[in-house]
Amino acid sequence: MSNLSASAIDDRVSEYAWQPKTEDDLESIYQRARKQFSVWKNYSVQERIVWLRKLRYHIAENRDRIANVIHQATGKPFLEALSSEVMMVLESLRFLEKHAEKLLRPQKRKTPMILFGKKSYLQFQPRGIVLVISPWNFPFQLAMVPVIEALAAGNCVLLKPSEWTPSVTELMQSLFHEVGFPEGVVQVILGDGKTGRELIQKHPDFIHFTGSVATGRRIQSLAAEQLIPTTLELGGKDPMIVFADAHLERAVRGALWGAFCNSGQVCLSIERLYVERSILPVFQELLIQSLAQLCQGEDIDADLGSMTTMAQIEKVKSQVLEALQQGATLLAGEHPDHWLENSRKLAPMLITNVPNHVSLLNEETFGPILPILPFDQEDEVIELANQSRLGLGASVWTADLQRAKRVAAQLVTGNVCLNDVIISIANPYLPYGGTKEGGIGKYHGAEGLYAFSIQTSILLSE
Ligand code: NAD
Repeated sequence: MSNLSASAIDDRVSEYAWQPKTEDDLESIYQRARKQFSVWKNYSVQERIVWLRKLRYHIAENRDRIANVIHQATGKPFLEALSSEVMMVLESLRFLEKHAEKLLRPQKRKTPMILFGKKSYLQFQPRGIVLVISPWNFPFQLAMVPVIEALAAGNCVLLKPSEWTPSVTELMQSLFHEVGFPEGVVQVILGDGKTGRELIQKHPDFIHFTGSVATGRRIQSLAAEQLIPTTLELGGKDPMIVFADAHLERAVRGALWGAFCNSGQVCLSIERLYVERSILPVFQELLIQSLAQLCQGEDIDADLGSMTTMAQIEKVKSQVLEALQQGATLLAGEHPDHWLENSRKLAPMLITNVPNHVSLLNEETFGPILPILPFDQEDEVIELANQSRLGLGASVWTADLQRAKRVAAQLVTGNVCLNDVIISIANPYLPYGGTKEGGIGKYHGAEGLYAFSIQTSILLSE
């Protein structure tokens, strides 16, 4: 495993930095996609699946190479890259191989008496050219999963990944090339936000965006001008709710993993931990003890790696400093005044007594910081959890499954884990997406395939 020097990522970014695509380049990218779409859309789902199966075999054969590139590009541990990125893409490919054909068949619908003698069904067609714009925190998984779903549904795809992880972009380019996909079926474009904007201006038939709320707003307004349908996967401020009857050791492990995997740079990170007051002291003590056992570094089996960019560290720092200045208490971790300059290694932090109004509780943090908050009543904690504008995920921990389900039913959010964290996104059978400012629309599962399809209702008179 190679060592990631503090400036390695910035060097790589500037190495690729930016020769923006000319108008001509983008034009020829679109022309290639449109030309190929007229062929690809006529492939049967099984024929498309043959290509996706080849891709799966190729990714499986190259899993270590892929995980290593991701590890170097992002700073996340190798094993985390392998499990949360490579394996998840393989699992999604398996899902599509098994189910896409059946899910995309025309579906019979009932016809009421008033239309006696007629037949009704729903049919699915590809949308055309799908533009996927993806972020840096899971540069492989969050780019590849929407791409393969869109391909399975019969679209040609333009993928514009984040400019912060260019080596992963190049890797994805080579993977599709090595598999030998027909020219124009999927084109991976190295570019920044400007390139993303220009690609939208060329009018794709659908946009699947994953990234920040601010960019999501811009993309949606640009898309609205041209009436381009979009799925937006945006930010999170996920609450984890721990009732007194929860299995405490498991909940502690869940909180640490949920808050600190990928150094907290996960849209579904636990960013607010609500603990029932009666168990708060013991829970905090267990958190501190378990945290001390985590190993941070570059080793293959490290629990924690480093942050991806210095810019993100600065953002995290300002939220932590504000919270501490406003009276919050540092329970574990380093005070920001002692953070090493130019180091991406950020020790995880537990923070208590956080005032309600500070940005650490209200804005996405995207760093290894866990604010811990007490609650007394079920209704109270549901209200607190729902206070955020970001409705992406949540988790509820209790031995009482009736209560778990009751609370889940009242949380205004796209994804809930009961007695677990984050992991619902790893199930390709479950649709994934946020609500409120956490996002619009879903992918994964049948819903994903339908999002990438035009759905035509047919009424047939024989
Ligand atoms: P970002 O919004 O800065 O960038 C995301 C992508 O959008 C990049 O590829 C970027 O080049 C592109 N982009 C930027 N401006 C654009 C424009 N005007 N037009 C078109 N494209 C543009 O996000 P980021 O910093 O890369 O990612 C972190 C954010 O992503 C966090 O807020 C996180 O919560 C969110 N995220 C959400 C999910 C989810 O599933 N909901 C998953 C991962 C990350």
